[in-house]
Amino acid sequence: MVANLRDALGDALRTADWLEPETRKNALAKLASFDPRIGSTVKWRDYSRVDVARDGYMAAKESAARDSRRFNLEKIGKPVDRTEWNMTPPTVNAYYSPPRNSITFPAGILQPPFFDADADDAVNYGAIGAVIGHEMGHGFDDEGSRYDAAGNLKNWWTDQDKANFEKRAGCVTSQFDSIDVGGGAHHTGKLVTGEAMGDLGGLTLAYRAYHKSLHGKEPPVIDGFTGDQRFFLAIARVWAGNQRAEAARRQLATDPHPLAKYRVNATLQNMPEFHAAFGCRQGDAMVRPVAQQCRLW
Ligand SMILES: [Zn+2]
Repeated sequence: MVANLRDALGDALRTADWLEPETRKNALAKLASFDPRIGSTVKWRDYSRVDVARDGYMAAKESAARDSRRFNLEKIGKPVDRTEWNMTPPTVNAYYSPPRNSITFPAGILQPPFFDADADDAVNYGAIGAVIGHEMGHGFDDEGSRYDAAGNLKNWWTDQDKANFEKRAGCVTSQFDSIDVGGGAHHTGKLVTGEAMGDLGGLTLAYRAYHKSLHGKEPPVIDGFTGDQRFFLAIARVWAGNQRAEAARRQLATDPHPLAKYRVNATLQNMPEFHAAFGCRQGDAMVRPVAQQCRLW
């Protein structure tokens, strides 16, 4: 799936009509040097210096913090260890590292509702596929796009392409600025732009990768849902959850990730693929006016 998502992003970069040849070449070089890491690290970290005892929670925390500090200080003067992971294998999360140009998917996220070896492809592409696309997308979001293929903070965009890119990013910023989340609360568009771009780009690429994987075959209808409908239901299931108003308020003020509900709804309001799958029409709540629909790839 990682290889298929990578192909889909490669196709998008090759065909994006708003990229000049120079930028396109740099973007493809960056994609080619992506380092995907899946499941678990190749080098286990040694925690033997950490003291954990049942009777002293605070002491255990302090010991772990001391070890973490020593671990980082010991890196000074040594070459960068590119095999290092910033998440433990059981963590249910994933990340992109701009200075390493690596994407990491710990074993913890490779289980339902993200990935299920027994589920059909539509469900897996709509869930973990969208996560893979999201992390790849961070290499080309408002922050990641400032790093080159080697992970150096270096501009590889022409001024024209950069302006085009910022216009696309600006569409997402103003979409989130305008969302009414209820109770007088709202997102800060600029804070969530990178993550929201990751969601939109990621789901778009996962959709294309899913369709490529079908090789022209029509997927079966399962439980009354078409392949495309199952794909979109899968991303909704990933983010389904409850949150107290206080927690939402804290997230809106401090977290670069939009509220879970809008990671789904705001993303899908931009996607004609979703509107076609569920027969939504212009004027429906889940359809943004065509002129305002944001698109990255
Ligand atoms: Zn992200």
